[in-house]
Amino acid sequence: TLSLLYKLKKLNASRLAPVQGATPTHNDRIGLIRGDITSLQVGAIVNAANNSLLGGGGVDGAIHRAAGPSLLAECRTLNGCQTGSSKITSAYSLPCKKVIHTVGPIYDDIRPDNSERALKGCYTSSLNLAVKNGLKTIAFSGISTGIYGYPSLDAAMVACETVKNFLDRDKTIDKVVFVTFEEKDVRAYNQVLPRFFPPN
Ligand code: ADP
Repeated sequence: TLSLLYKLKKLNASRLAPVQGATPTHNDRIGLIRGDITSLQVGAIVNAANNSLLGGGGVDGAIHRAAGPSLLAECRTLNGCQTGSSKITSAYSLPCKKVIHTVGPIYDDIRPDNSERALKGCYTSSLNLAVKNGLKTIAFSGISTGIYGYPSLDAAMVACETVKNFLDRDKTIDKVVFVTFEEKDVRAYNQVLPRFFPPN
């Protein structure tokens, strides 16, 4: 639950210097946890889905298992989702209110700009859906950092930069939580978070 959140000020100091003039910091609106996203009692959890929205491995499989078969039934009515876009459903047996399904890019190391544009789209479209649905807290899984092969550090940079730009303009979201699962992603966020959300 949210009480397990590591507050940013408790994170290890990064070797990277904070970005100059990067204010406001939004530190009270950002969290990082390591654990199972399906256990969080937030407004929305963000699923790293695929274009079919009909379930898959990784976090997608975990979310469908925990939500129960009604989630797949609703997803069948959505006609899939484009890469870089998001769709929202009910959460069924999950403790959160809604599930936002976003489709990250399969990392393309020949054209990393295309991957970056799509990954930004995932974060922005998910946050827009949260606002539109009146949800105050949103927890992101590490979109594309599993089977889809996006390098963890690059993905964390895109995630933090996109969320920071969004929070600079938005007044309605109380908390954005990055949910990490594997050690490589924990390391990446510990490096990147202080650059975009420098400690007070
Ligand atoms: P993608 O296909 O977008 O790469 P994956 O599901 O393979 O999606 O991985 C996305 C991220 O979700 C990875 O960082 C993976 O470690 C993480 N993950 C897997 N299971 C869970 C879970 N139960 N809760 C949170 N994160 C998870």
